[in-house]
Amino acid sequence: MLAEALEHAGRELGRSLDMREVPGRILDQLVTVVPYARCSIMLEYGDVLKIEAQRGFPEAQRAKEVTVVIREGDVFEQMIRTRRPVMVEDVLQEPGWQFVEGLEVHRSWLGVPVISQDQVFGMISMTRADVAAFGEDDALLASAFASQAAIALQNARLYGELNSAYQNLEKLDQTKSNFIEVTAHELRTPLTVIKGYAQVLGALPDIRDNPQVKPALDGILTGMQRMHEIVNSILDVTKIDSQVLQLALHPTNVGNLVERVAHHFQPDLEARHLTLQVGDAIAALPDIQADSDLLYKVFYHLVMNAIKYTPDGGNIVLDGWAETVAPAIEVTVRDTGIGIDPEHHKLIFEKFYQTGEVSLHSSGRTKFKGGGPGLGLAIARGIVDAHDGSIWVESAGHDEETCPGSTFHVRLPVV
Ligand code: ADP
Repeated sequence: MLAEALEHAGRELGRSLDMREVPGRILDQLVTVVPYARCSIMLEYGDVLKIEAQRGFPEAQRAKEVTVVIREGDVFEQMIRTRRPVMVEDVLQEPGWQFVEGLEVHRSWLGVPVISQDQVFGMISMTRADVAAFGEDDALLASAFASQAAIALQNARLYGELNSAYQNLEKLDQTKSNFIEVTAHELRTPLTVIKGYAQVLGALPDIRDNPQVKPALDGILTGMQRMHEIVNSILDVTKIDSQVLQLALHPTNVGNLVERVAHHFQPDLEARHLTLQVGDAIAALPDIQADSDLLYKVFYHLVMNAIKYTPDGGNIVLDGWAETVAPAIEVTVRDTGIGIDPEHHKLIFEKFYQTGEVSLHSSGRTKFKGGGPGLGLAIARGIVDAHDGSIWVESAGHDEETCPGSTFHVRLPVV
């Protein structure tokens, strides 16, 4: 019977992880195992005990007694030292007993320590009105119960700590996002100014026709262009993060869109001796409701990555098909590049996530293993998600010798 009651009490305690609730629940369960007249559960903070919950006290007393000071030689100190229950048969005979003013005297007292990892971190104190009302059995049962209470309290504490750590992290993440957004905005203005002046300079005949100055100016312009792109990517990702991405939906032909992306990268493909094929099936895909500017960015980033992570001489193939069951279209971007280890398949879609070493970065947009800010796939996923689609990668693994390649899939509903 008692074993059952203990087990039941333990199960009940496991139901809550809320530190504001658990102490009270402990006392409500304890009374079913060891009946008491009054009871408090306290947690230890240095040399004081803070009362977490009470039962059986008159209202006026409850509010008054929040902490109990542990004194040399008293029952609390004794429990901490011995880690064992302490029983007082008659508090009137106990020298130095701390009576609470205005509180009816209960003669018997039983205290049990709440222990975790060999340390007393709390106590349960119980009273009964009569002299010698608690027995050895009560002490034993209350101790057994206290070990279950200890688990429940520790779990609730840990959960509380985890929760507040999580909230702190969320706050920090928000601060970081704000910082990134403000910085990106601030950078855009001077970038535009520099680019504008560089273009003005480039149009001057003296400079345009000067074979020494012209390449330098072109270098500045390419660099500015790249910086602009990165700043825009950062702003895209902050928009996606704060869920303010607005879709302007129109009937969109993904075939056209993919052709435009392929065309855009033609110079880079040539420079890197890569071929890019667009499968015939793509042109035959049905129109979908989509934001074509945003969707362009999805394929832009996927093709740019395919170029970046494929050694010179490789192939990139874009293909697609329509599914009639769900109705949806699926487009794949396949490359013969270095591939991606399965452990990274999900993480690469997180912002700022990169598989390689940051120190190996080169700044070229389509240079082999050029590396970037780690935003392309986060943007692609954000946009695809906003269209209720899905994006994922298949790759046998990462190997720069054998180049197993990667295939990115984009699935979009046809609405
Ligand atoms: P970035 O290219 O700027 O680093 P992305 O978000 O576009 O950021 O990609 C994240 C990471 O995923 C890259 O750093 C790279 O390690 C990996 N990755 C993306 N596309 C490919 C690909 N086609 N082949 C191999 N690795 C890729």
